Order: sequence, then C-alpha cells, then structure tokens
Amino acid sequence: MNYSGFDVYERSIHKAEGSGVEVFMAKDAAGDFLVIAGKDHGFKGERLADGKIRVPLSHENAGVLRALFPFTAPGRVLRKERSFGLGDRLGIATPGHIKLFECYDAYPVFAQQSIRELNLTNRTYEDVLDAASFAVFREDFQKGWGADGDHLKTVKDVEYALSLGFTMITLDCSDHIKTAVTGANVPPLPEKYKGKYLGKQFDIGEGIVLSFTGAELGAIAAIYGEAIGFAADMYGRFLKDGKYSADFEISIDETSAPTTPLQHYFVARELIDAGVSFATMAPRFCGEFQKGIDYIGDLAQFEKEIKVHAAIARHFKYKLSIHSGSDKFSVFPAIGRESRGVFHIKTAGTNWLEAVRVIAQVDPALYREVHQYALSAFDEARKYYHVTTDLSKIPSLASLSNAELPGLFENNDCRQLIHITYGLILNKKNSEGSFAFRDRLYKIWRQEEDTYARALERHIGKHLDLLNVKKS
Ligand code: ZN
Repeated sequence: MNYSGFDVYERSIHKAEGSGVEVFMAKDAAGDFLVIAGKDHGFKGERLADGKIRVPLSHENAGVLRALFPFTAPGRVLRKERSFGLGDRLGIATPGHIKLFECYDAYPVFAQQSIRELNLTNRTYEDVLDAASFAVFREDFQKGWGADGDHLKTVKDVEYALSLGFTMITLDCSDHIKTAVTGANVPPLPEKYKGKYLGKQFDIGEGIVLSFTGAELGAIAAIYGEAIGFAADMYGRFLKDGKYSADFEISIDETSAPTTPLQHYFVARELIDAGVSFATMAPRFCGEFQKGIDYIGDLAQFEKEIKVHAAIARHFKYKLSIHSGSDKFSVFPAIGRESRGVFHIKTAGTNWLEAVRVIAQVDPALYREVHQYALSAFDEARKYYHVTTDLSKIPSLASLSNAELPGLFENNDCRQLIHITYGLILNKKNSEGSFAFRDRLYKIWRQEEDTYARALERHIGKHLDLLNVKKS
C-alpha cells in the first residue's frame, strides 16, 4: 500500500480495542515510523496534513505502543516447555526470527543482552526492548515473547532491566562461586548441612541416586555457599513479594570447571529450600562451549552428563538452560532428547555472524575492510574471551575471489575472529571521529533486510530442527 508518500507495512495495521485508534508502521527514505489515526493516546509526533500523526520510533512512543497493544510488550515465556534466546545485538534481527517462531513450537526471547553487550554495541536496555517491540508490532507477532536481562550481577543492573519491564533475569552468580576451594583449603562444614546431607541417599528418579561424602559436601558448600546466598538475596529484593513480574534464571556456568551433578543438586536444593523460585538453571557442562562454533569435547561424556543434569532439573521442576548455544549442532540432538523437549537455549553471536555473512555476500569490498580490521584487532579482543582461534587457518583475503568470501563463515577460525571482534568493529572510529564501519554496515543491513531474514530462518532453523523442535 502506498499512502501519501510512504509505504505501509501491511501486517502492522492495528486497531486498539475499544479506543478507536488505528496505528500502523510505515517507511520512507528516512526510515521507519508509526502513523496514528485518531486520538493521540500520548504518542508524540507531528501532525500530518490529513490529521494523522507521524511519530518517531522513540522510547516514549514505544511505551505508549506497549500499553495500547499488549502483545508488543514482553511476557513471561521462560516457563513454557521450550524457549529460545536470540540476543540481537544489532537491533535488526527480530523480523527474521519472527518468521521462524511463527512456525516452530517454541517461544522466543527476542530481547536478550548482557551489560557487556550493551557497552560494546553502544546500546541501552531501552533500545533493545523497543527494537523488539517495534518489530513485533510491525510483523503482528501475537504468540508472546520474552525479554532477558542477561548475565546480570548487581542490584543496580537487575533493577534497571526490571524497571523497564524485562520479563526474565539471568542472575550471573560467577563472582560468588569460590572456584579456588580445593581439598587442602576447605573450611569446616557448617552444621546445618551435616544432618541434611550426610549419610543420606537422594533418589532423583530415573534410577539415579546421589549421595555426598563429607569431603565432597564440604567442598561444594564452600564453593557455592556464597552464590546461593547472593541468589536468595536478589530474589528476595525483586521477585519474592511480586515487586516485579519476571522469571528467574540461575547462571552458574561462567566458571572454569564443569558443574558436577552433586554440585548441581546441592545448589538447586538449597535455593528451593530457601524459598527461591526459579524457572531455569544454567550449569557449566563438560567440554567447551566456545563462541559461534560447534561443541568441542567428548560427545559420549556430554551425553552421559546431560542425562543426569536433565534428571535433576526434572526432579526439582525447572528447565535446564544452555548458554553459548550458538552453533552447538553436534550436541543439540542429545539436549533435545535428554531434556525430553524441555529447555531454554541462548544464542547471540551467531545472529551477528549471519549479519556479517550478508555483508560478505552483497558488499565484498566492505567485508574485506571489516575482515582486515578484525585481524588487526584480534589480540585486543581475545583478552575477553576463551577461544582457541588459530588465525593462520584463515585463508588470506588476497587469495579469495569475492564469490568465495561468504564461504569464510564455514571456517571456525574465521567465525571466531569475526565473532569476538564485534564490539571493536562496531565502535571503530575514523580519525575525524565518524564511525569507520558502523553506519555503512547498518545501511546495507537495512537495504538487505530480506536477505538477512532468510539467512536467520535457515541458520536458526537448523538449531531448532536439530533440537527436534516440531513445527506447530
Ligand atoms: Zn552463561
């Protein structure tokens, strides 16, 4: 539809119940905006000649939109059987994700960012939430979606996300996990744990019985005691009395050593006994979940361990959450099977990689510049990541034709190169202060929106298929 000089997104035409107001999204050369026909309801914009109001996609207007059309506000989807985090660092991936989650029997968490990601992309939680709301409105996605304040560690950050209406908090307990505790320096075991755990058998069903020796229990209590207290405190501050309505995820995965079944059981049991209600827990699994590439490690070992982790989660009635889930194709079948189709998976970087793959396809010259810069920035970036990237395994740009560039995204070393340098690429400035790549990249992504959406459908669709998520 062409409407007084701009194009209307057909699926975005909505009437708010009972209010008589009609709202739709449209675009012109300057980008997307909303058009309001009827009473303004608090939308702020400029009056058009025909009496309608043209309003920018601001945070204030997003708030009005969420109030008028509740499906554009995030909901609590983490307690659904299957949920899937889609950390869209660029704020442009949701239309492609929507196409996928309209068909698959799983619930999306479109908004999912950590504070670190916000800093590296120069974004705010307002912006992350609003980008998802506007995309949901534009595409008329009525199924429900979540917003995750990811890997939060402080009272201030949790409050920031919750006050904006985020519906999920992933509490990162890693700063309170005392990984340095070993046999030699274990403090005395608190009395309260002795009678509760020692000499007891914990039957979690499915033929699995757990029991603790005194030494095991002492070490586990010393490693996790403070983290449990931290999680209980944060739950008490924000969620216990219904101050905010959000689901709680306990993240104990950001540690150097895998979480053993006994550790997992102890943490869950202590949290539940402390009255903490959580929807998901993310243990650290054996092997390596490096960014943007497949699982590295012993598959048989992984299958054996996830069986027990899944049984513990079922026993206590929460879901396992799998972090760094981008591209872990070889373990998805086991995760789908052993969890019996009940899980939360988080992805983020792979959505960025697909966006850069689009650049390699449609603007090889720009891709070459970005790639060259990433190589020079790699040493700086790798300080913040555990990756085993070997730059010598990436073919030199000079040896590749333009048509061969997208094929670089099948190369794990190149995937990690581009993955971990995302913040540096987006923030790189020219000497006079303008962005070296950011604006040019976004321009292409806007032009190639359909190409990106198709790439995400294919690539994230592969994740869902291997997890054995059915089409609904
Ligand atoms: Zn994590």
